[in-house]
Amino acid sequence: QSASPGGDTIFGKILRKEIPAKFVYEDDQCVAFHDVNPQAPTHILVIPRKAIPQLSKSGDDDEQLLGHLLVVARKVAAQQGLDQTGFRLVVNDGKNAAQSVYHLHIHILGGRQMQWPPG
Ligand code: 5GP
Repeated sequence: QSASPGGDTIFGKILRKEIPAKFVYEDDQCVAFHDVNPQAPTHILVIPRKAIPQLSKSGDDDEQLLGHLLVVARKVAAQQGLDQTGFRLVVNDGKNAAQSVYHLHIHILGGRQMQWPPG
């Protein structure tokens, strides 16, 4: 699965509102929506509008965008009340990380105690 300009992954379809998602945040650079198969009581994905397939395929010129995604993850976590209890951010990159959708995304996971290492 690749991510071309506009995004031809399932997340491209979500960005273009071709399939529905429960959005919690949108701006000109990124959106955030609930994961359809939540792994925690709160499980939200932050994705750039730019269709970067995975972190390792991003460029040095994406520095501002990558920073913005983290700032938005912090704001969404706070909006969800997760800053009171703690939360986890995850970026799966490629096969060994079990990445399944090749459009860069940050997972925000919270609402329960988590373990480390994650396995
Ligand atoms: P990955 O394994 O690539 O890091 O994470 C992809 C995530 O996207 C998974 O947690 C999966 O549940 C979620 N996902 C896959 N398809 C959809 C969809 O159509 N809608 C939503 N909201 N989430 C999806």
